[in-house]
This record gives sequence, structure tokens and C-alpha cells, in this order.
Amino acid sequence: MPRSLIIIVPCFNEEEILPSTSFSLSKFLNSCIDDNLITSESKICFVDDGSKDQTWNKIEEIISSNSHCTGIKLSRNFGHQAAILAGLLENINLFELYITIDADLQDDVDAMKDMLQKNIEGANIVYGVRNDRSSDSFFKRSTAETFYKLMQKMGVPIIFNHTDFRLMDNKVLQNFSRYKEVNLFIRGIIPSIGFNTEKVYYQRFPRKAGKSKYPLSKMTELAWNGVTSFSTKPMKMVLWFGIINFLVALLLTFYVLYGLFYGKVVKGWTSTILPMLYFSGANMFAIGMIGEYIGKIYEEIKGRPRYIVEEILKKED
Ligand code: UDP
Ligand code: MG
Repeated sequence: MPRSLIIIVPCFNEEEILPSTSFSLSKFLNSCIDDNLITSESKICFVDDGSKDQTWNKIEEIISSNSHCTGIKLSRNFGHQAAILAGLLENINLFELYITIDADLQDDVDAMKDMLQKNIEGANIVYGVRNDRSSDSFFKRSTAETFYKLMQKMGVPIIFNHTDFRLMDNKVLQNFSRYKEVNLFIRGIIPSIGFNTEKVYYQRFPRKAGKSKYPLSKMTELAWNGVTSFSTKPMKMVLWFGIINFLVALLLTFYVLYGLFYGKVVKGWTSTILPMLYFSGANMFAIGMIGEYIGKIYEEIKGRPRYIVEEILKKED
């Protein structure tokens, strides 16, 4: 039985690449419909994440000439994760299958066929995993790989070399929608949902046009979000830091007493300065870490909307 599919495409300043992306994705959709893998009601949904360029105009143009395409315009730039979330939640329960893919088509469109196949074989979630990063620059590759390793070390359930290119069915999406956090790290949430999962390996291509919308600052923010929303390990590190500090203080006590008895230093100086240096640093570090978590709690407790839709465009069939 063919199933209905929607492909969600987050777009931020992607005017250059959108025509070729919509062409490739439509071609893919049509060939899957012809192969009876998916139903003819299947769609592509472009989410404009507050682009400053002509992205939304381009999406409007595409929708007017292609009944398979729909669009969601967010009121401002909410970030990649929120754009994916908007695309998924605004279409929840309307389709059986959901695939998310970046607008630059660095991920292999044909791998989506393997995803559909794995779904037929019983997988509720299929992760797209890169088996090769040679198309990325050395800097991008090494920072990204450090990112995955760091996250895994910190105990975040992340899949190595998987970004947000994945298939999930509506049952998974319904459960995903119950995760209400504002600090969203979708890659960490999905593996914690469970169900039958599979992986599809593919080669990552270079960006065809435009520049990366993920500068180091955004990537660090995503990694930090992943760690602080999923793991309390940094808090444990603070604890260990405190314990080590205590041991250092013990050793210093001997040194200070030695100085006191044998009169090698000005009286009172060592015992004042050294602990001050060590403990003020340790305190600041610990307070900073706690502050990070309190900041997160503050953001979560406000329960603000994670995205705001300005407009939804669909061509009625
Ligand atoms: N993106 C987005 N909002 C942002 C940044 C990026 O929707 O604030 C989209 C972007 O248009 C692309 C995807 O997220 O479809 C991944 O971004 P990019 O290709 O620039 O990241 P990279 O592949 O360089 O990590
Ligand atoms: Mg990209």
C-alpha cells in the first residue's frame, strides 16, 4: 500500500538554490508516485525561516506552478531546528510519512528511496547517515566531528554523522510533538523516542549554491544546547572540580604551615592569596555552570511559542 509523504525543507536565504531544489524534489516525488511507493497526495513543504532575500517570493512562484508544493512562512528567523519543527507540527496527522531534508540538497535525494524502502520493511524512523565528509572543508569536517564526539561523551543520545535528514512516521511525530522544550535539539530527542529504527548511508555532496547558513557561532550554540538540554554531566564536572580543589587546598595547607613555621614568606601572604585565587575561580566556574541551567529553566518555564507562522500557502487540489 503506498503511503502519503511530506518532505519538509527548512530554508533561510536560499533564493539561489530553491529552483533547482524544488525541481529535484518534485522529480523524486513523481518517480516515487509512479513506482507506487507513495500516494499522489504527497507533498513538499518549504519553510521560510525569516529569510532576508527573495526566498519567500521564490516559494510562492514554485507553489503557483506545482501542486505538490506548499509553503510556511515564519514571522522571523527562528533557526534551523524551529523551522523543521514548524514544518512537522503544522502538518501533523495530515500525512503518514515525514522526511526532513536541507534546502541545499547536500544530502542525497536518492537516499530517500532507501528510507521509504526501510519504512516498508517496518522501520518507524530512518536516519540518514553520511559515510563520507570529504566534500566538506577541513574546518567544517573537524569541528563537526568534534561536535559529535563531544556530544556522545557528554551522554547525549546522538547518532554519529546524522544531521536532520531522516524519515519518521506519524506515530513517531505524534510522540515527538509531546516534547515541549524550547531549547530544541531534535537530533537528541528522536533517538530517545524509541520504536523501530534503521539507518541509510549516503554520500554528502558540496553545497550547489549559496553559502552555509551555519557559521561556527550557530554550530557552537547548537552543540551547547544539545549538551545542556540532555545531559547533567557538566554539573558533575563541577562537582569533581570542587573535589580536586579541596585536595589542592589540603596540599596547600601543608605548604602554608611549612611557611608559617620556618618563616620563609611574609606572614599571612601565602595563606591569603593562594586560596583566594583558587577558590574564587572555582566558585565563579560553579556559579556559571549553575547559571547556565537556571537560564534554561527560565526559558522553559516561560513556555513561549517556539515558532510563529506568518502565512501558510497551499494550492487546493
Ligand atoms: N537554516 C534555517 N535557519 C537558519 C539556518 C539554516 O532554516 O537559521 C536552513 C538552511 O536554509 C538549510 C539548512 O538549515 O536548508 C542547513 O543549513 P546549512 O546548509 O547552511 O548548514 P550546513 O550544511 O552548512 O551545516
Ligand atoms: Mg548544508
